[in-house]
Amino acid sequence: RLPICICSRNYHKSEHTVPIPDYSLTDYLFRNISKFGKGIALVDYLTNRSITFDQLYEEVDNVANNLYALGLRTDDCVCLYGTNVPEFAHVVCSVTSNGASLTIANSQLTAVELAHQLKATNSKFIFTTSECTERARTAAQIYHKLQEIIVLGNQTGFRPFSNLTERPRIRRQESHIDPKKHTALLPFSSGTTGLPKGVELTHYNLVAELSALSHRLFLPFDPKSEKSLSVLPMVHIAGLVIGMLNPLSQGASVVTLPRFDPQTFLEAMEKHRITFCLIAPPLVSFLAKHPLVAKYDLSSFHTPYSGAAALGKELTMQMVERLKLTGIRQGYGMTESSPATHTTPLNGYKYGSIGIPLPNTESKIVHIENGTTLGPNEPGEIWVRGPQVMKGYFDNAEATRTTLTDDGWLKTGDIGYYDNDSDYYVVDRLKEIIKYKGYQVAPAYLEGILLSHPSVGDVAVIGIPHGAAGDVPRAYVVRKSHVSGEELSAYVESQVAPYKRLRGGVVFVSELPRSASGKLLRNRLREEFLDKDSRE
Ligand code: AMP
Repeated sequence: RLPICICSRNYHKSEHTVPIPDYSLTDYLFRNISKFGKGIALVDYLTNRSITFDQLYEEVDNVANNLYALGLRTDDCVCLYGTNVPEFAHVVCSVTSNGASLTIANSQLTAVELAHQLKATNSKFIFTTSECTERARTAAQIYHKLQEIIVLGNQTGFRPFSNLTERPRIRRQESHIDPKKHTALLPFSSGTTGLPKGVELTHYNLVAELSALSHRLFLPFDPKSEKSLSVLPMVHIAGLVIGMLNPLSQGASVVTLPRFDPQTFLEAMEKHRITFCLIAPPLVSFLAKHPLVAKYDLSSFHTPYSGAAALGKELTMQMVERLKLTGIRQGYGMTESSPATHTTPLNGYKYGSIGIPLPNTESKIVHIENGTTLGPNEPGEIWVRGPQVMKGYFDNAEATRTTLTDDGWLKTGDIGYYDNDSDYYVVDRLKEIIKYKGYQVAPAYLEGILLSHPSVGDVAVIGIPHGAAGDVPRAYVVRKSHVSGEELSAYVESQVAPYKRLRGGVVFVSELPRSASGKLLRNRLREEFLDKDSRE
């Protein structure tokens, strides 16, 4: 068991530290290329295209030079918006090795939502995949500063990615990257409150995260025998860092799937003898219950790793029994922490637990009201500190100040506790965000849309529990004039990505709970709902 030190003030610090090399993200990924250059780095499951580490290295260099020739410079931003393909690796490395940052956008975002992210990040280019090109084009009509849409694949009317992998005509000057200063990734997260914000993850944050994950007790990969399947979206930080960058940085192969389809997923697992897969609770439920699973040989699959949302003990046991596993590993963290801060260690963990702090990471439980640090088995807010914690929110000093303390603790907005063995558990969410199938939905965002409807006087959106999907958004509405719940649901649906729909319905009320200062008390609505639900 990894020794955990309980410091005098009740916070945990892994006694093991791992060195964090002073590298850019790309230099870190390829630091051992001489050892595994001939090995397969990436495979596109649908087309069976594959690429070795040596080829990847060479192509990344070409793309980086060609992007420079197109005008990409240090401190610019580029957007990646699409479904999983191997070329995501080229995009991450070539953009960030130019000293620019990469913002990642969920492939389900509408054109308007995408345009908002492009504008907020001042993006110069966008990389996308064929099913998203029309929305990317419409977004470019809304946000005029986009210089180019590049398609990972081939589609007439857009610059094909193959243009960028060609040998460059000019070579750029190497960008000077200061790992602690330069932002590499700029994913979006609502954090503990409000609308989605850009999260500045530096090269150092990401190298620290990958170094910690690769520790022998957490997520080490044997490059000779291990293969990861990337099915969760790599435009989410967990899919990108844990599903792809971590195995690649250790020389293991990554097979990509653009989306989850039961049969294709199982075929890919069997055909490639997949050993590791980042999954989320809905996928655990599928593996535990779906009849199709029994028809496939999943005997190679020894490390299911679940994250992004709470995983119940019962579901865990069902999947473990069915697939004859020794367990399901769990990871916990946030976009703001690159993302993992806790993981169940290889040498012993309990079902339902999110594990212990990663190497170099500190963690504590803080009383919600009086801010004191709590002891074992006392629930409070989980706070974390470590080199993987973001530099801050992009262009939003106020949100940064309320989320990070002066001495570097990240307030997660999650309620949890640790037991007498220092294993951590998440029990609830203090913050507003709703997590549907692991995707973030910001109540404030849906409330803004609903308030723009002429019949809505006041509104509060909360998440209500919905089995393995996590939470679904439900709106409590004070009407100004007659409107039906269906009309309001359709109004929202026409403006948001499918995962943000009001699946929890619309409830009409005469007033909403507010504090004396007028602050919306969403938690009170949620407590009332849970209380009523438990009585029924
Ligand atoms: P995101 O920034 O989208 O990765 O969302 C982070 C949030 O997802 C956390 O603050 C938690 O609320 C939730 N989360 C992530 N991993 C877990 C986990 N293993 N168990 C429970 N909740 C989790």
